[in-house]
Amino acid sequence: METKYWDLNDTLYTESAISEAAELLLKGETVAFPTETVYGLGADATNQQAVSKIFEAKGRPQDNPLIAHVAAKEQLAGLVESTPGYVDKLIDQFTPGPLTFILPHNGKCAGNVTAGLSTIAIRIPDHPVARDLLTACRVPLAAPSANASGKPSPTTAQHVWADLNGKIAGILDGGATGVGLESTVLDCTGDIPVILRPGGVTKEELEKAAGKVLLDPGIMNEHGKPRSPGMKYRHYAPEVDLWLIEGTAEQIQEMIDKEKSHAKMIGVMAQTNVAAQLHADQVFDLGNQPEEIAAKLYDALRTFKEGDVDLIICEALPEKGIGQAIMNRLKKAAAKHIGV
Ligand code: AMP
Ligand code: MG
Repeated sequence: METKYWDLNDTLYTESAISEAAELLLKGETVAFPTETVYGLGADATNQQAVSKIFEAKGRPQDNPLIAHVAAKEQLAGLVESTPGYVDKLIDQFTPGPLTFILPHNGKCAGNVTAGLSTIAIRIPDHPVARDLLTACRVPLAAPSANASGKPSPTTAQHVWADLNGKIAGILDGGATGVGLESTVLDCTGDIPVILRPGGVTKEELEKAAGKVLLDPGIMNEHGKPRSPGMKYRHYAPEVDLWLIEGTAEQIQEMIDKEKSHAKMIGVMAQTNVAAQLHADQVFDLGNQPEEIAAKLYDALRTFKEGDVDLIICEALPEKGIGQAIMNRLKKAAAKHIGV
């Protein structure tokens, strides 16, 4: 299949690109588009056959349900049975934005969007291209991250192209995404909301708005049993092994030197002050602020190529605020977690 590529940085092209992409989606094809979190691979969520093309293109396991994206609050309400009171508060405060609500569905979306579950994941994205596309389509779009299953999520159209060129109908290139990590997935089926996947909206922010919020114990522990079907799979894996190391710059350097003595080429990812002290074959400076690290993380994981390095050593980062989502992704990407 030839994959159409629309460069939205060319402003003259924007409007016709959105309507061409919407037309393809309404015909049952898949199109990748930018959101504020990562690039999504969209299909008409009411069309079972269209949705099955997402699973095929990504090589995604069939039991991993998708997030339905909608343009507005009223559209969200049209897909669910009921919403507890705290959901209205969260919608007012965090949508559009990187927060996904798990709610009992009313059967309007195709069965493969929810992998047969009685609940559905819904999000209202906050990116002009995603919003324009959803408005043009008028149907909800099922849209998981637009990467090959298992790989780091795409934060640029080039990442999408590298994974899915030839397998999808089109890519809308709206530049690099802002947040850089996926949305927070929040189970809103009970009296107290439960975070099933940490993401763009932090637990602290949610608690300020809605009171008590729980964290599914399965998610931060590498051996736990997560309640969100997708969290059980190995994710975000770079081309070569990644080791996550808790320690000082000196301890990380010792680890690098030890592995280098086994004739390995080493890549390193660390915060600016630590990266500046490290010597390795490739060093990726993740920046200082957690938000900057989140935005750079997946690009960093894709930068280290097989053949250039044999091992990536990554500094473990503080698990506060969005750091919780960063470490959740790093633990899933890592082959080894050392020093805990
Ligand atoms: P992705 O779209 O690739 O970012 O992945 C969506 C995440 O949401 C996966 O971890 C899914 O397992 C999770 N998810 C989607 N629908 C549900 C649901 N109904 N209940 C629990 N988790 C869900
Ligand atoms: Mg994904």
